[in-house]
Amino acid sequence: MEANEVAIDYSTADAFGRNLAQFIKVYFAIIDTVMKTKGSKSSGKEEVANYLVRYRGFTRIHLAGLSKTKADTANNSSAEVTELTFKSAKKILEYITPRWRTNYVTTDVASPIDLYLLWKRPFVLVVGIDAPTGIRYRRYCAKLEASVEQQLSLEQFVDIDDSVMYTCESPPTGVRNVDNLSLGMAAAILTDNGEDPSAAAAAEVALRAESEPQPLLSPIIPNTSDAHELNLKRVLSSANVSIANTFPTREDLYQYLDRIDLTNGERIRPSWDTYFMLLSELASHRANCMKRKVGCILVKDNQIIATGYNGTPKGITNCNEGGCPRCNDGTPCGVSLDHCLCIHAEENALLEAGRGRVRNAEGVVLYCNTCPCLGCAKKIVQVGVKVVVYSKGYGMDKLTLKLFKEANIVVRQHTPPTLSMEIGSP
Ligand SMILES: [Zn+2]
Ligand SMILES: [Zn+2]
Ligand SMILES: [Zn+2]
Repeated sequence: MEANEVAIDYSTADAFGRNLAQFIKVYFAIIDTVMKTKGSKSSGKEEVANYLVRYRGFTRIHLAGLSKTKADTANNSSAEVTELTFKSAKKILEYITPRWRTNYVTTDVASPIDLYLLWKRPFVLVVGIDAPTGIRYRRYCAKLEASVEQQLSLEQFVDIDDSVMYTCESPPTGVRNVDNLSLGMAAAILTDNGEDPSAAAAAEVALRAESEPQPLLSPIIPNTSDAHELNLKRVLSSANVSIANTFPTREDLYQYLDRIDLTNGERIRPSWDTYFMLLSELASHRANCMKRKVGCILVKDNQIIATGYNGTPKGITNCNEGGCPRCNDGTPCGVSLDHCLCIHAEENALLEAGRGRVRNAEGVVLYCNTCPCLGCAKKIVQVGVKVVVYSKGYGMDKLTLKLFKEANIVVRQHTPPTLSMEIGSP
């Protein structure tokens, strides 16, 4: 069925789609936990940054005083590579904010506070990169093969890794020259060679830490001075995109980045479809039906007129507290629906809106995180909704879609990038 988008204002989405790259000003590739002692060239974040520079036209940004990895840009003398270096995250912000038509990438995160400064802006995407410890250790050893540096044992490597990942304490004694400062939480910054930092760089970090109060209510910067809350694990879990770099070669990684469409502008600012689909997913969290979490958003001219989720009617014991014997009996999906006391998300949204708000409404779109069942489909047709957007499949999609087609209802399946891990079938 062709999407008839007359009823929907796509001007924003269209402009967005065309100018995709322009909306992504900074990709902030934080951290793998690879040791940066040697300016590791194969750390995941370097590869992702290189990918963005080489194939997506991003400009690399560095923070002065942090170990600056030349990476492969140095070997790639034929390519025109522009790199910028700034003294602080604030300076980075000052520079990039008016240059919204250019894309930038940095891997230099001096502290969670710096990260927050950038991350709270609507044009910054935080990419977290990690890889299994064993793989990272083998990469680390491979790097050191031609070097005179003494190699860490696996146990030492794991100790340091754990201290970076889970606490902000200094690495175990006896291990030096290792960058435990992926997030700048320790007292010093190491240079490329693992030398002690210059006094100036250390002073700058100290100054930054003092002058910047910890922002409140951020998933990245918790309102706490507890070092255990500010570890790398916590920051990684707040990233907008998480990448597990288990790829054996650079090409494999690059193909993966292509495949997940890393620079998809929806990751920065969602289209209307994504926006309302995410809201319907959010509504589904209120569902109390034992069978499935479903959420529905009814929209007119891109404004919400009703929301719904599935569960027992008002005043009846919630399904998940035993309210519906059918749902609590382990009855297979789609069986004995006539004995079910639960109201579906779509029904609840339609009931809340009432026919008056939907009738003759060309701009009405029903968003549901699951394809409507046949029972709901009948009601959607009857009320007069003209466009239905769903994400996940259900057990009777064919019947539903056949009915919608006959009723001239435009249907499209839309799964936002951030929900793409969902399994699409019942
Ligand atoms: Zn139920
Ligand atoms: Zn039920
Ligand atoms: Zn239904």
